[in-house]
Amino acid sequence: MSQLVEVKVPDIGDFSDVPVIELFVKVGDTIKVDDAIATLESDKATMDVPSSAAGVIKEVKVALGDRVGEGKVLIVVETEGAGASPAPATAAAPAAAPAAAPVAAPAAASHGGAADVEYDMVVLGAGPGGYSAAFRAADLGLKTAIIERYATLGGVCLNVGCIPSKALLHVAAVIEEAEHASVAGVSFAKPSVDVDALRAHKEKVVGKLTGGLAGMAKGRKVDIIRGYGHFLDPNHIEVEETTGTSQDKTGAKKVVKFKQCIIAAGSAAVHLPFIPRDPRIVDSTGALELRFVPGKLLVIGGGIIGLEMATVYSTLGARVDVVEMMDGLMQGPDRDAVKVWEKQNASRFDKIMLKTKTVAVDAKEDGLYVTFEGVDATSGAPTEPVKYDMILQSAGRAPNGKKIGAEKAGVIVTDRGFIPVDAQMRTNVPNIFAIGDVVGQPMLAHKAVHEAHVAAEVAAGHKAAFDATVIPGVAYTHPEVAWVGYTEAQAKAEGKKVETAKFPWAASGRAIANGADYGFTKLIFDAETHRVIGGTIVGPSAGDMIGEVCLAIEMGADAVDIGKTIHPHPTLGETVGMAAEVAHGSCTDVPPARKK
Ligand code: FAD
Repeated sequence: MSQLVEVKVPDIGDFSDVPVIELFVKVGDTIKVDDAIATLESDKATMDVPSSAAGVIKEVKVALGDRVGEGKVLIVVETEGAGASPAPATAAAPAAAPAAAPVAAPAAASHGGAADVEYDMVVLGAGPGGYSAAFRAADLGLKTAIIERYATLGGVCLNVGCIPSKALLHVAAVIEEAEHASVAGVSFAKPSVDVDALRAHKEKVVGKLTGGLAGMAKGRKVDIIRGYGHFLDPNHIEVEETTGTSQDKTGAKKVVKFKQCIIAAGSAAVHLPFIPRDPRIVDSTGALELRFVPGKLLVIGGGIIGLEMATVYSTLGARVDVVEMMDGLMQGPDRDAVKVWEKQNASRFDKIMLKTKTVAVDAKEDGLYVTFEGVDATSGAPTEPVKYDMILQSAGRAPNGKKIGAEKAGVIVTDRGFIPVDAQMRTNVPNIFAIGDVVGQPMLAHKAVHEAHVAAEVAAGHKAAFDATVIPGVAYTHPEVAWVGYTEAQAKAEGKKVETAKFPWAASGRAIANGADYGFTKLIFDAETHRVIGGTIVGPSAGDMIGEVCLAIEMGADAVDIGKTIHPHPTLGETVGMAAEVAHGSCTDVPPARKK
């Protein structure tokens, strides 16, 4: 006999009001226990919610962008016979956190053949996670090799991510600074941008860093094996040799034997299935190639990567529209910080379309015609197709876990391609670790490097574990927005009692001198322990300053510790000390606090 069963959001730890960023099911689908229903994303973690019932989905009770918490009904499932009683709801595990294996381990294969080379440690992937793991393992005495399909080390971050984007953002900042200098009586001629020379500059920056890595690998006697690696079993990887600047295979193959392995295979940009292949439609890698500066650019996705590239292209002369499905840009930091960024960037964008989906793109000779659809009636989405010269798809990144034959090694990979690990970065297979983007959110280079060191140290027999309290996030836009730990919104959603102290940069001599008096530094303290548990900074160099707040949180500092630390004057950095003084009630650079 069939029955209808509601599947609800299980206990998701500290999160109570998090948006649905992916929905994997629709009415009529057949679902099994543990199949993913939806992905929820807080500023700390992304988590898949598994189904606790098996059967046919009769109702889907949430939509993309909805905010949910424990107990919210996600789907109604018609179950059959013996399977009618739903399994107890399993907690959704934050992908970045040590997670119990959500699915049964695949049966490992066994490679019967010989190996061409043998190592103590093999690292699959040479991004910031991979090369850091390999270098640390070699420093700790393990005979180590890195397998990398591309010609240079450094992965996404150095080649097509953090570094080239910052090289371009720096140039954009110089152009904007020069324009702003007119308010101080210094005027420059309108800049003329030689796009070829700018591209060459960016490539030089990248080359310097990736070349430096190759030298450091050599210095540590870490072998680089060029090619596409996939597991044969829990101790062997086959490498298909690649050549040139791309991933062209030569046909040559090599079997690499390892005692231990660290998977650092990273992630790739998500390509929306309905968007056609066209040279004018790019992902972040294509945008960083800087092939041309379009008249009108559409950025799909209002996250950090999209907004950083929008900053570059608009400074170079493009008119930019941004389309975002959620109700705000730059999810993560508190809205007061995003508002400051929005105000400073109001002239940069023609249109910011929130709660709006891109539903079709028609690539015609004279332009890319894009059709939008509002998530609800309030979105104000354009009703007619809008023409663009270039589109940047920046709708997120997907882990590469399903592309490396992990199942042959018996390594569990989730439906979405993440590899679950424990606090020592170990997968379910004891001699195989995983780190970086492939293990979960936040997909950031500094998280990958931290995990890399943990994995290498554990592999070398040291006592180590991932126990960082916080991982900072930074949008390197103009102005920068940086945040770490608790936001006010998160504290409110969790009902956590906090004290907030904000130091406005309008009271900072250095910020005024720099023309940045619109910024602020905000610290969040636990109301009971008075320890700092979060911070948000908006303004130039916010990313450089947030490190002090990270250290303060990790050290368990309170407002007195931070406020009584002598910061150099006049700096933007002293605003961290002053925000702590505001909390403490001892700041003499702001008007006196109202008597209670
Ligand atoms: P990756 O850097 O993705 O490296 C994985 C490597 O594995 C790649 O080199 C890949 O070729 C290789 N590989 C994969 N599969 C195989 C295989 N089967 N065989 C051989 N080789 C393989 N993060 C920040 O912290 N700060 C930033 O400012 C920042 N800016 C960014 C800007 C952009 C435009 C983008 C796209 C990303 C940015 N990131 C930033 C994110 C950052 O780049 C990633 O978090 C980081 O690179 C992840 O490191 P990783 O080692 O896990 O993987």
